[in-house]
Amino acid sequence: MTAGERVAVVGAGVAGLTTAVVLAEAGASVHVIAEQVPGVTSLAAGAMWGPYLVEPKDKVDQWGQRSLEIFRELSEDPTTGVRLTSGVEASRTAEAPPDWAADLPGFRPCGPAELPPGFTSGYRFMVPLIDMPAYLGYLSRRLDAAGGTVERRRLASLADAGSASVIVNCSGLGAQELVPDPALRPIRGQHVVVTNPGLTEFFSEDTGLSPDLLCIYPHGDTVVLGGTAIDGEGDLASDDNMAAGIVARCAEVEPRLMKARVLEHRIGARPTRSTVRVEGQLWEDGTMVLHNYGHGGAGVTLSWGCAEETRALLSAK
Ligand SMILES: Cc1cc2nc3c(=O)[nH]c(=O)nc-3n(C[C@H](O)[C@H](O)[C@H](O)COP(=O)(O)OP(=O)(O)OC[C@H]3O[C@@H](n4cnc5c(N)ncnc54)[C@H](O)[C@@H]3O)c2cc1C
Repeated sequence: MTAGERVAVVGAGVAGLTTAVVLAEAGASVHVIAEQVPGVTSLAAGAMWGPYLVEPKDKVDQWGQRSLEIFRELSEDPTTGVRLTSGVEASRTAEAPPDWAADLPGFRPCGPAELPPGFTSGYRFMVPLIDMPAYLGYLSRRLDAAGGTVERRRLASLADAGSASVIVNCSGLGAQELVPDPALRPIRGQHVVVTNPGLTEFFSEDTGLSPDLLCIYPHGDTVVLGGTAIDGEGDLASDDNMAAGIVARCAEVEPRLMKARVLEHRIGARPTRSTVRVEGQLWEDGTMVLHNYGHGGAGVTLSWGCAEETRALLSAK
């Protein structure tokens, strides 16, 4: 990568903004183009660090660990929206802990008294929780400080990104049409944001492949309650029945939520494919396209690792 190299980043979700920050801070002249600023799916995330609905495992581990290091650093600054939070992931069947949790600080199995009724196993650990509206605002400010610019525009094709010598494709589910990539599919997710009745710890259930998830993520004055994972659905309209089910599941585990007031519904479609795509492609006209999309249910978790790999691809071109 040459200093001042003109790079167009398509997408202003967590993938696009993080990649734009990494490239701008490395000296590129970065211009972000996106229809939604910030990306709606990224705004809808809970968000907890932890791989979910994403492959390939070896790369996911590597990208996730690098992102974890950076989220730990960011958690020292409250304005980033990132906080290290203790809590419990539990199961109603006797499940082994997720392999990514065992190395997290404070990791230990829960005793029966620490589990809600009906749960038979659980693990306590400390992990980054990310308040996405605040965090995406932080990334935008950091991009601005590094000289990056943002333009709100829908592209009909990646070639419409303009005259940059490098196009970075962080269009999430938009890559279905822009690449085009038929291997990409939506997995719809819904969250309900409520007032915080005093919760400081997260709770999540290991629900396996069920479409009904259960997670409780406190972010100061609010709590994000989840969730759902409906494979193949990309409709972003709020579903009242699903929202009621989410609140009921969460309140059963944490009765203080029964009286919480609903503030907002956040819906997104996880951009899912068999493997995350981070790779370069050289067009016949000499334009380099770097793809960074398809992060499924773990786009926040993988964001810094994937952004740095994109920078490495650019440096090697
Ligand atoms: C309910 C829910 C909970 C989640 N929880 C977590 C979690 O706890 N932890 C975690 O790590 N991940 C979580 N995820 C997954 C995570 O949100 C996604 O993997 C991530 O947001 C994908 O980011 P992205 O930047 O690729 O996509 P997006 O946020 O969708 O951004 C795509 C961008 O591309 C732009 N774009 C697309 N097409 C075009 C076009 N034609 N022209 C111009 N611009 C275009 C869009 O406007 C947008 O700006 C969750 C997702 C959901 C839905």
